[in-house]
Amino acid sequence: MRMIAFPDGREVPALGQGTWRMGEDPTRRQEEVARLREGIERGFSLIDTAEMYGEGESERVVGEAIAGQREHVFLVSKFYPWNASRRAVPQACARSLKRLGVEQLDLYLLHWRGDTPLEETAEALEKLREAGDIAAWGVSNLDVDDLEELGPDLARCATDQVLLNLEHRGAEFDLLPFCRKQGMPVMAYSPVGQGGRLLRHKALRAVAEARGVTPAQVALAWVLGHEGVIAIPKATSLGHLRENAEAAAMVLTPEERAALDAAFPPPRRKQSLAML
Ligand code: NDP
Repeated sequence: MRMIAFPDGREVPALGQGTWRMGEDPTRRQEEVARLREGIERGFSLIDTAEMYGEGESERVVGEAIAGQREHVFLVSKFYPWNASRRAVPQACARSLKRLGVEQLDLYLLHWRGDTPLEETAEALEKLREAGDIAAWGVSNLDVDDLEELGPDLARCATDQVLLNLEHRGAEFDLLPFCRKQGMPVMAYSPVGQGGRLLRHKALRAVAEARGVTPAQVALAWVLGHEGVIAIPKATSLGHLRENAEAAAMVLTPEERAALDAAFPPPRRKQSLAML
């Protein structure tokens, strides 16, 4: 599988695993744990979670799934913007580490921007990195102007996790090129449009049918076709996980890309970064 390098040289496969909504329904918990384990076995070692997901329960599900195999996993979690102050960041991190049952996060992200100055958050994150609680830090849902505001701290920011799928292409105009120039990978969330309207789109279905694959596979292959982009679809059902695994090896043809561009036009001017 295609590997993507973070600025510190660590590499991860371009296909990772999302976990939003995991841990919310106790009756699905065993399935969620099993799916994450199967994903790890297949090599999708990056797992993305957040203190927000299930108010901590998603992190507990991840903790259960990775127990005994920490070394095979690249663990990403995120903190709320109201936990972004000098005082709150280390406390939020300690709670996440406890729920996950690990001593260190591979990557810790500001979930979205709030009232705390970015400089203060970056300073708190650097302290956590020096203490060894996190190996690296990054941000999420930050547009180019926010990233520029990071100033010298931008060099220490490992990623920006943003909404990117066929329906939300705004980041292609300026954010992706900006991050590429910084040598910073982008993590694409909701790559299959949360399994909703996008997958029923006529043009996407036509491309998928002609190739003999599913619309989700085309949608995911499209995201993975961007240089320096890691996709983190969430899949609890076994069929979805298998489909997504196959999509990681798919390369869309220029004709398929052109058909998708016609139905989902690429941005021709700056658009504010969309977020869920
Ligand atoms: P996704 O685009 O990953 O869609 C997940 C949904 O699509 C689930 O309902 C899943 O079903 C379904 N699905 C997965 N694979 C397929 C498939 N092959 N065919 C049909 N349906 C499929 O959306 P998410 O919003 O979950 O985004 C992915 C991850 O990104 C999140 O889980 C989270 O980790 C992160 N994220 C980050 C955000 C941020 O602000 N930083 C915001 C949103 C997400 P099932 O589970 O039943 O298999």
